[in-house]
Amino acid sequence: MSDIAKVLIVGAGIGGLSAAIALRNAGVEVDIVEISPQAKVYHVGIVVQANCIRAMAQLGIADAAVAAGFPYKGLRICNQQGQVKAELSGAQLAGKQYPANLGLTRPALHQVLLDAVAESGANLRLGLTFSDIEQSANKVAVRFTDGTSGEYDLLVGADGVYSKVRTTVFGEQYKPRFTGQGVWRYNLPRPKDLLWSHMFEGKPGGKAGYTPLTEDSLYVLSVFEEPGNPFFAPDTLAAEFRKRLEGYGGLVPELREQITDNSQVVYRPLEALLMPAPWYRGRVLLIGDAAHATTPHMGQGAAQAVEDAVVLGELCGTADLSLEQVLDSFMERRFERCKFINEGSVQIGEWEQRPSADADFTGLMAQMINVVAQPI
Ligand SMILES: Cc1cc2nc3c(=O)[nH]c(=O)nc-3n(C[C@H](O)[C@H](O)[C@H](O)COP(=O)(O)OP(=O)(O)OC[C@H]3O[C@@H](n4cnc5c(N)ncnc54)[C@H](O)[C@@H]3O)c2cc1C
Repeated sequence: MSDIAKVLIVGAGIGGLSAAIALRNAGVEVDIVEISPQAKVYHVGIVVQANCIRAMAQLGIADAAVAAGFPYKGLRICNQQGQVKAELSGAQLAGKQYPANLGLTRPALHQVLLDAVAESGANLRLGLTFSDIEQSANKVAVRFTDGTSGEYDLLVGADGVYSKVRTTVFGEQYKPRFTGQGVWRYNLPRPKDLLWSHMFEGKPGGKAGYTPLTEDSLYVLSVFEEPGNPFFAPDTLAAEFRKRLEGYGGLVPELREQITDNSQVVYRPLEALLMPAPWYRGRVLLIGDAAHATTPHMGQGAAQAVEDAVVLGELCGTADLSLEQVLDSFMERRFERCKFINEGSVQIGEWEQRPSADADFTGLMAQMINVVAQPI
């Protein structure tokens, strides 16, 4: 093992839970604190690609994730009317027994992660966060909001896009930026013959699409420009979403009709943040959205968080590495890849809002598939 024997993870989202599993697999003692009193996530879907499934296989959770989700064939990029322009499938990077693309509900993915964390022996405490972080040469001392305290070799900030670890340790100046668009989502029954994710481009301001999620469900989405980052009253959400889905072909018109329940519409303004390297100060490291929050245009946010976890676990488990060597190697293996995803995703959103002659969504997505296929 490296010099890192005991770690505190702040935040039990996709990145934090994955990091707990990876570190336990490496023999590291792990405490996790999660501010939310319940281990619950909102009901939308998530799509993960082959590099995420490969990373989950490295954590030992790919079988459970595949069993909890719905493998689909890949992404069909269509024009606004629904004519297919390109099909991107990706390779089965985790091996022939695993798919290249998987749809999951967020609660299903969360349960897979929570089960593995429980089995790993990591100590997860809910409804709790830190109140104070004090670093010395040999330890990071943490006081928690329930009055308890602990000492660790490393603190991992996995507390998402509004990370309090980031503002506490790195300063208030690093803030996510609204990128000009918002994403609208709604779950509906899946027609049995829908085996591809479909994305329709060409309508100025954004795009729309739908993706298989489970045996029985799909989600329909729109990513659309939302000038000024408006607030939408809860009782207007279904009508607002339907408006953004006007003018598309394929299954969109019939799915659009079924968007009627305001309480089932999930709307999120899109924000992005890329922390400059390095993502550590002393014994505090940021991972996942806390360090590199991206827009969903490449469907890579969760994958990059899980990859962060795998790399951290691997390095912490490597004999004789010092803290500095672990953190420097982590940055070397993670920064450029996350930067590519972050900047590429924002670029696609820019093209959607301000169409330009050199816009090439299909080309950039194909490049992304090649980049993430490289070993982490
Ligand atoms: C609308 C939308 C759609 C997306 N779709 C996809 C997709 O299809 N595929 C994909 O790969 N990615 C997608 N992403 C991105 C993906 O959700 C994120 O990249 C991923 O969840 C990042 O994981 P994380 O653990 O870093 O952060 P999070 O999942 O946000 O987890 C952070 C955790 O920290 C906790 N926390 C916060 N503050 C504190 C605190 N002070 N103390 C303790 N705990 C705290 C939170 O409660 C939470 O549990 C999407 C993102 C958005 C916004």
